[in-house]
Amino acid sequence: MSECDLVIVGSIGLDTIKTPSETRELLLGGSASYACAAASFFCKNGMVGVVGDDFPEEYLEWYRGFSVDLQGLQQKEGRTFFWSGEYEENMDNRQTLETVLGVFESFEPVLPEAYRSAPYVFLGNMAPALQLHVLEQMENPKLVLADTMDLWINIARDELTQVISKVGMLTLNESEARLYTGCDNLVEAAHALLELGPEHILIKKGENGSMLFSRNGKRFIQPAFPLPQVTDPTGAGDTFAGALMGYLAQEASTDEAAIRRAMLHGSVVASFEVEAFSLERLRSLSESDLKDRVEELREMMRVD
Ligand code: AMP
Repeated sequence: MSECDLVIVGSIGLDTIKTPSETRELLLGGSASYACAAASFFCKNGMVGVVGDDFPEEYLEWYRGFSVDLQGLQQKEGRTFFWSGEYEENMDNRQTLETVLGVFESFEPVLPEAYRSAPYVFLGNMAPALQLHVLEQMENPKLVLADTMDLWINIARDELTQVISKVGMLTLNESEARLYTGCDNLVEAAHALLELGPEHILIKKGENGSMLFSRNGKRFIQPAFPLPQVTDPTGAGDTFAGALMGYLAQEASTDEAAIRRAMLHGSVVASFEVEAFSLERLRSLSESDLKDRVEELREMMRVD
């Protein structure tokens, strides 16, 4: 029996973020940070990642506050991965200002023995070669979800194609789906991606929600929760994916209905995450806040 239901592997970063109204420095970020925090509302999850010797102790406390299992977290001599980005007025477009890989450059994800039989795995955004290395260490997961980004589509396409062929679900945003497949039409892009092997392709469309395309021909569209104000959209996709996988791990299911409920919960947790910087809103999020917003969004989606 595995010690955690869900293993999450990805970047752990210190982020400096500029929005039109505010600049915040050295915030806790990275795909694994957002995904683990989000998943922890639903299941016990373990984080696999690397930080440098400059990583603030306070942020380890934040992880512990979410009850994230840290057996797979490596601390190495050197600088923690650093990323800085700036959002345009519409809070949708952003530019990367600086990336310093630091200890992430030589990261070798090693899964603790107790994680290898975990049923659910989230391969957060990182080099596809590292994602493949994680897959090699897993015994027989029930569902693997992989995320990616334009960088890997551009510089590591072949390895990314191998990852896609080995996972049950792939998530990427609409521009990445177009970039990888060369198809402008998203339905066509999703079908081209399904051809490569996954059971499900999950296309994220930012404030326009997400779409699920399944091999059995079924489709589902999940709206985002409409917010009057977004403070910082960084990490919304990782939060969505982490909550989705956490929810499936909690339900111990991979069926279509469970995936739809998982997308609803992912949308809601992501809507809280963007209300503040870093994990600040998720740290104060209660079970009842979450439940209430799930019901509110469910009601908004209801058609008689
Ligand atoms: P998202 O907003 O979902 O794209 O995720 C933002 C997070 O991704 C930030 O917290 C960054 O630390 C992290 N990030 C940015 N660039 C990279 C990269 N090249 N590899 C891995 N993680 C990254």
